[in-house]
Amino acid sequence: MTILLPTSTAGSLPKPSWLAEPEKLWSPWKLEGEELVAGKQDALRLAVEDQRQAGITIVGDGEQTRQHFVTTFIEHLSGVDFEKRETVRIRNRYDASVPTVVGAVSRPKSVFVEDAKFLRAQTDQPIKWTLPGPMTMIDTLYDAHYRSREKLAWEFARILGEEARELEAAGVDIIQFDEPAFNVFFEEANDWGIATLEKAAERLTCETAVHICYGYGIKANTEWKKTLGSEWRQYEETFPNLQKSSIDIISLECHHSHVPMELIELIRGKKVMVGAIDVASDTIETPEDVADTLRKALAFVDADKLYPSTNCGMAPLSRGVARGKLDALGAGAEIVRQELAAA
Ligand SMILES: [Zn+2]
Repeated sequence: MTILLPTSTAGSLPKPSWLAEPEKLWSPWKLEGEELVAGKQDALRLAVEDQRQAGITIVGDGEQTRQHFVTTFIEHLSGVDFEKRETVRIRNRYDASVPTVVGAVSRPKSVFVEDAKFLRAQTDQPIKWTLPGPMTMIDTLYDAHYRSREKLAWEFARILGEEARELEAAGVDIIQFDEPAFNVFFEEANDWGIATLEKAAERLTCETAVHICYGYGIKANTEWKKTLGSEWRQYEETFPNLQKSSIDIISLECHHSHVPMELIELIRGKKVMVGAIDVASDTIETPEDVADTLRKALAFVDADKLYPSTNCGMAPLSRGVARGKLDALGAGAEIVRQELAAA
């Protein structure tokens, strides 16, 4: 990356109201069949245009073609029965009715590769594609086949690897795996979670990232956050092993969260996507707010490894708020770029 402080979002952006009900997470589609295919592509184009206007460096699809960051991927796999549902606790936080693993899991065909090719055709900027990580995938399913979280995670790692290599061939520059589960199941993350993540990313020559966050600004998450105390030190558990891992970039949240900034020191040497936008609030940051977060992060990450980003996805926000936050991110990074150039 030649530009200093390349900006990006963690992943999702709000969908247009004609595609899915706004300000609602996992909102059902409003279109069907061919209209839905065309609608998703139009929405993706708008997401790219918003990022271009905001001066975002690494462009994503805004996750416009998926309803859910984990489930949409799993829907395309065989071995999982979506009719057979069981209630499980997601990330130890809330109960949800989830599909059941009923047999050996496999990926009969690619899931996002056509969407990624479409994104590739929209821009000459570097592009990033998000996939769920193995541990977060197993945490949204009931497993009646392998009966082992670790075994299922290794299977998903293999499947994710197949998808990731096809995404890379489609021209994706950064493949990001979302692993919010790393902030909850520390022991498993260190025992085999990081290893399965590396397995998913093996043989890739493009850059790889892992996004670890405290989730969308939805009620179950804000309630959980209230129980975490004044300092959120969850990253401390997994960062030492992530620092030693083969993953190139760590995406984390900073702005307005209770994560002590100095925890970034634990991953010194890695590229760091620093969340400088709070996705759990409708208040739009000023460019100066963003610049302030980035300046503080620069104490713990070298300038050439600092990637300004958002704390998490912005899907549940209104389009206006998300757009304002994108603009602030672009403008705030530019302030600090100029300061670094003048120094
Ligand atoms: Zn997130």
